Amino acid sequence: MSKENSVLIVEDSPAVGMLLKNYMEKLGYSEIHICETGSSAITTFNDLVSQDKEPIVLLDYMLPDMDARSVLTQMLETKPNVRVVLETATEKEDEGVKELIRLGVYQYLEKPIRFESLKEIMTIMEKEKSFFMKESEQVEMLKQTEHEIVLKVNEKIDFLLKSHGQISLNMIAQLMKVTEDVVQTHLKELESTGKIVQLDEKKEISCNQCDSVKIVQTFSCPTCKKNNFNMTKLIEHFSCGNFSEEKKYVDNLCPKCKKEIKAIGVDYRVITGRYVCNSCGDIFTELFTTFLCLKCESRFTMDDVKWKAGPYYKVINL
Ligand SMILES: [Zn+2]
Ligand SMILES: [Zn+2]
Ligand SMILES: [Zn+2]
Repeated sequence: MSKENSVLIVEDSPAVGMLLKNYMEKLGYSEIHICETGSSAITTFNDLVSQDKEPIVLLDYMLPDMDARSVLTQMLETKPNVRVVLETATEKEDEGVKELIRLGVYQYLEKPIRFESLKEIMTIMEKEKSFFMKESEQVEMLKQTEHEIVLKVNEKIDFLLKSHGQISLNMIAQLMKVTEDVVQTHLKELESTGKIVQLDEKKEISCNQCDSVKIVQTFSCPTCKKNNFNMTKLIEHFSCGNFSEEKKYVDNLCPKCKKEIKAIGVDYRVITGRYVCNSCGDIFTELFTTFLCLKCESRFTMDDVKWKAGPYYKVINL
């Protein structure tokens, strides 16, 4: 049976793009778009959303024209609940990658890509889509016996634990739309049979308007606050002191003094780890970070973050 969601593959290697397309077709997706650059991906994404579609995005961490965080932030601006799977060959523990994996909104796919892992992620995503309890379902539950309700709630708590691996009590209670007491009763059972363990209390970011813990981090240029940026390499030409992007040194000629740069370390040096803003042209080392609440869609900065403390649980054998 064909799946209703459209899929947007953002991948600069045509070979990997085709491979992913084949995999997704095997999984039953029929509307698949492939984009090789970040900017074309954003255009396609906005088109699909304006047609009332909810594309699932497979995003490559390394793109030629744009930083993955920039692409992600721009998609979040259009559709705060967009589901993105990040593909990367970089370690899951890498800080840049970690930043992108937030609260189950993003799933992570390791390169080289294996069909089995993609299938697993897509299954979780499809389940998650039907997971969040709808009003109609809550009304439906009132007709059931208390025992049936408890079983259903417990089954969903198990699913949440399994799909997150590690999750806070706050988050479970919020996603389930039930009180912490209800959740805790089931967690205690799971704990007593060694299926999960309680970890130390941790603080997590919550919305300063509605108290929700379903928050994503977005990134932008510290100067103009637009979110169209990419990683860049800079070259410093020692003799004239010019300091600009590598691509400005056309044919190895310095854009300022027009002389040729010859030997790295001798007459010039390359500096990595900088971002360039495609809107205002500014170069910076740190991205400006804001938070977006997926429940009430309010935005706030790190200074206005409300920290919420609570226990976390980790799956051992569930
Ligand atoms: Zn120069
Ligand atoms: Zn800017
Ligand atoms: Zn909120």
